[in-house]
Amino acid sequence: MDRRSFLRTAGAAAIAGAAAPALSSCIGESGTIDGNLIKDSYETDLLVVGGGPSGVCAAVAAARSGVKVLLADSGNCLGGMGTKGLVGPFMTCYDAAGERMIIRGLFEEIVDRLVAAGAAIHPSKIRQGTEFTAWIKEGHDHCTPFDPEELKKVYDRICAEAGVKVLFHSVFAYPVMKGRRITGAVLLTPSGFERVKARMVIDATGDGTVAYRAGAPCVFGDPENGRVQPASLFFRINNVDTDRLIADVVPHLPEFRRVNGVSYRCLHWRVAEAEANGEWDLARKSVNIWRSVEKDQWVINCTRIHGVDATNAESLTAAEVEGRRQVEELMNFFHKYVPGCEKATLMGTGSTMGVRESRHVHGDFVLPVSDLIEGVVPDDNILLSANSIDVHGAMGGPAGGLYMPIKKNLYGIPYRCLIPRDVEGLLLAGRCISADSPAAGAIRVMPPAMAIGQAAGTAAALCLKNGASPAALDYQELRRALLAQKVCLDA
Ligand SMILES: Cc1cc2nc3c(=O)[nH]c(=O)nc-3n(C[C@H](O)[C@H](O)[C@H](O)COP(=O)(O)OP(=O)(O)OC[C@H]3O[C@@H](n4cnc5c(N)ncnc54)[C@H](O)[C@@H]3O)c2cc1C
Repeated sequence: MDRRSFLRTAGAAAIAGAAAPALSSCIGESGTIDGNLIKDSYETDLLVVGGGPSGVCAAVAAARSGVKVLLADSGNCLGGMGTKGLVGPFMTCYDAAGERMIIRGLFEEIVDRLVAAGAAIHPSKIRQGTEFTAWIKEGHDHCTPFDPEELKKVYDRICAEAGVKVLFHSVFAYPVMKGRRITGAVLLTPSGFERVKARMVIDATGDGTVAYRAGAPCVFGDPENGRVQPASLFFRINNVDTDRLIADVVPHLPEFRRVNGVSYRCLHWRVAEAEANGEWDLARKSVNIWRSVEKDQWVINCTRIHGVDATNAESLTAAEVEGRRQVEELMNFFHKYVPGCEKATLMGTGSTMGVRESRHVHGDFVLPVSDLIEGVVPDDNILLSANSIDVHGAMGGPAGGLYMPIKKNLYGIPYRCLIPRDVEGLLLAGRCISADSPAAGAIRVMPPAMAIGQAAGTAAALCLKNGASPAALDYQELRRALLAQKVCLDA
């Protein structure tokens, strides 16, 4: 597919995805799918669908609270975007002043395990404006570079130690419903259709697939303008002469700027050269390159594909192909134009497209971005964060992004955002929680996603113990449990 027809396909898909979601298909507690018997394979207290950063933390937190947990993921490893997608580093876990680590709990435990294995650099040692933050300053203090292969193993171990039963290669197909209550799910596994009976379910799919199919209201992207943030295929390179690369960048740091939402940051002078030679057609004017733990390894966040509908296989397929085309163009760029990268080797591309935005599931309360900007710490707070509002592509056009720093030192996220409307027995975790599109642009990054997961898993365990519905859960009890797990809740 050539570039022009790709853009046509992607645009059409985005329009389709923006349509109001129809009440989706569910199945009852028994039955067949197209004549195939659904096997009753599993019975558990809590089913977590999606093993990304939020799903892992939800599963571990619940299992440690004494609940029987099954964690199902469509892929072959835990970690979602951070492993399969090669996304990194972990964005900041500090307050805006860069003084206090405010995302702790399971996130900190995972980081400590990575550091002990020599597979991460502790965020206390990483400062903004350095090669570890693509030399970006605002909002990027105390990121955490990590090795994605080691992260897969850390997640495997932390789940095994907590007693979480993990099922890979298991795609959530349908919710099992009893009226408005979700009582489990049908998974499509290599063995066929298998039913999981569960007393509660957590949707950690990123796309809100469970909630959507169970009938919760959802919006696609930003209903104000019908857009989703562009997707990016991450890749990693090594064999970089890092000293020479840094020597090329540092003299240009005073020229780093943002004009009408377009960033002229790392290597913008080299992009200009390639553009002048007709060897650059990407929708960016600079290249986000992040040094990793090993000195010669760099993580590249630069491909950009607009209008991708992650709920549509054709749209995603076209995006994956276009992503790999862009990686090829970027590798040629590195080899030809970037000092120190002449012999860089492509270590690999993400085994999945990096999707920043798709569905937002709605609850009774939809977190507005203004609460984050104004630093609201709600009465039912479940975590603190200070990630800035970073909505790529929000201003339309090929590269115009919306970046809004927060006005205060931090903000909180209410427990209410985890409770979808119209479905009983279900909690949300990670990227799909009830937030408006720009708010989701801030809290979607991995450290808050993990903290949201930890809160969802802890809340689910308390609901199961007390026989309470998520909406009726005593917040003070949740707060006590989270504080005992070293989660920061107070400004
Ligand atoms: C391009 C890009 C750049 C980013 N940059 C950064 C960054 O630098 N730093 C940072 O901290 N964060 C970054 N993020 C954000 C972050 O990676 C994600 O938002 C975060 O991983 C969300 O966590 P999650 O658990 O909600 O979902 P995900 O990480 O998406 O995990 C969802 C999991 O659910 C599984 N799943 C989905 N559907 C099904 C199904 N039907 N059945 C079974 N399993 C299913 C998937 O396989 C996946 O493993 C970036 C994201 C993108 C896309």
